[in-house]
Amino acid sequence: MDTEGHSLPSASCGDGRKRRVCYYYDPGVANVDYGANHNMVPRRVAMAHALVEKYGLLADMERLRVRPATEAELRAFHDDAYVRLLRDITPDAYHDGDLRDRARACGVGVPETDETDASAYDNPVIDGLWDYCLRYAGGSLAAARALADGSSDIAINWSGGMHHACRGKASGFCYVNDIVLAIQELLEHFERVLYVDIDVHHGDGVEEHFKRESRVMTVSFHLYDIDRDVKPFFPGTGKVEDVGEGDGKYYTLNVPMKAGMDDERYQQLFRPIMDEVMEKFVPDAVVLQCGADSLYGDRLGEFRLSVKGHAGCVSYLRSFNVPLLLLGGGGYTVNHVASCWCYETAVAVGKEKEISDEIPFHGYEHYYRDQGYKLHFTVPKKNGNKKDDLIDKIKQDALMNLAMLKPPPTTVGEHRPSKRHAINVKAHYDQNQDKEAKKYRWCRREDDDPMERLHRLCGEADRYDFFTELGKRKMSGLVNSTPSDSK
Ligand SMILES: [Zn+2]
Repeated sequence: MDTEGHSLPSASCGDGRKRRVCYYYDPGVANVDYGANHNMVPRRVAMAHALVEKYGLLADMERLRVRPATEAELRAFHDDAYVRLLRDITPDAYHDGDLRDRARACGVGVPETDETDASAYDNPVIDGLWDYCLRYAGGSLAAARALADGSSDIAINWSGGMHHACRGKASGFCYVNDIVLAIQELLEHFERVLYVDIDVHHGDGVEEHFKRESRVMTVSFHLYDIDRDVKPFFPGTGKVEDVGEGDGKYYTLNVPMKAGMDDERYQQLFRPIMDEVMEKFVPDAVVLQCGADSLYGDRLGEFRLSVKGHAGCVSYLRSFNVPLLLLGGGGYTVNHVASCWCYETAVAVGKEKEISDEIPFHGYEHYYRDQGYKLHFTVPKKNGNKKDDLIDKIKQDALMNLAMLKPPPTTVGEHRPSKRHAINVKAHYDQNQDKEAKKYRWCRREDDDPMERLHRLCGEADRYDFFTELGKRKMSGLVNSTPSDSK
């Protein structure tokens, strides 16, 4: 890993490399189906997890096994009416005229009259929608709490990162904005939170919510192209002039790019800009949305990043040794997405140099045929001048905005939570009067899936040894016993 001197010793890692990492994965999220022709395939998270597991990376992380988010937790950002809609809407209930109207008003559902409006299909009424939202939001909240209570240095939820969801509206395949919820949770314990978005699309939902806030800085690197014949590249926002408002002025930074960005050009922007952001904003925690649609060959994105180029952003931010929340996001060529998030998990635990480039036999290997069964798929070289004046211009504009940033706000005379205020997570749940939270308290979501439950009882055994081990435990009656280590 290239730390470039930023790696600092910490209580957990004197060598500046190792981090305490926790990881959330819930098969219930991965099984959701947006529809046959939809670009969003949540199964990509299961594919990434299968690779993570096969490469042996689970042994280097603590698994976060948590309850889903509660309605009350969603309402910390989302409108009551929108939360009720997400709770009530099902493919069957959608036939009810009233519910259909409510859904359509919130950007959810298929149009009946204008079948040509493809954007209306972005956020379909899917089976298990409510459960899906609660689970991925619960994962991001739990990951944020693991950073806040000081038990982890890096927390990962590849099923999160839904950056387009608005307060009262679904957008861009996103229903609940788990990022806003997680940042709000972090703000309870940290003074300043930095949000960085490397999805090919602008992180509009997160920016919109925090654009007047000086304790949260949002930085989005994205494709911005509004000069298209039909319609601008989604969502059509995120120009460099958008710098936030009021107290939050200059705490919003947009880095709009053109199609075709490769590793070299991307890093020519990312590193100097992030250096300046880290120096001027001095965040206490960083949230990195790792949307993988900025990779080469994405079905929707138009960048040319390799896995290493994309992961370079993760390793660079990791090197500052500030509590780091890694979230997923977009990504529509599923084999590329899974390769990337697996490799970035390896970066998080400091093992990226140790994992093989050969995709191991793990049940999904046939999906990697087009990339020669290699973790690092090939990005064809493009001829052209390496010197790009446009890159210089974008960098200059961004740095000029950053030059306007005031020094870090102080706590003098203001009520702010103390820096790195530690919380006791168990006590947090015990004191929680929310009935829903109590109902789900310490519920392990894998318990919903008998296969996952058995797998866990066998101690995360290698899949090849799993059935053998299972047989042995059945013989000894362990499978039917209650897990003793639940928390
Ligand atoms: Zn995207």
